[in-house]
Amino acid sequence: MTEIKKYDNDNIFAKIIRGEIPCGKIFEDEHVLAFYDIAPQAPIHILVIPKGAYVDLADFSANASGDEITAFHRAVAQIVKDHDLTAGFRAISNAGGHGGQEVPHYHLHIVGGAPIGAMIP
Ligand code: 5GP
Repeated sequence: MTEIKKYDNDNIFAKIIRGEIPCGKIFEDEHVLAFYDIAPQAPIHILVIPKGAYVDLADFSANASGDEITAFHRAVAQIVKDHDLTAGFRAISNAGGHGGQEVPHYHLHIVGGAPIGAMIP
């Protein structure tokens, strides 16, 4: 186990998970929630988050259970299928200050529905 980063229980995605703030939910199971980004950067812009308290991808990858990690990636596959993203998509996870992460709860952006352009403009 790597060091567990301090998790802010009041971050916006924690509030969404607790049902305190609404979201455009598109997928939910025991471990995972997915919803539309409030400020979409592409025709399809979905956020996939674990329900567990993980700060970023490194925290999730190091400390989540096998069931949580499997559920997360199975959810991504289901979402890609449900949204007809077979023409392609990009999955992005920003982490920390250098990564430009705004919300300190691990999330994967899935963007698609049109050519996305250069990975790092
Ligand atoms: P980050 O920069 O942390 O990778 O991305 C955070 C994302 O969360 C941004 O794309 C932003 O538009 C989205 N976001 C922030 N607040 C809310 C919210 O209340 N609801 C939804 N659906 N998305 C949000």
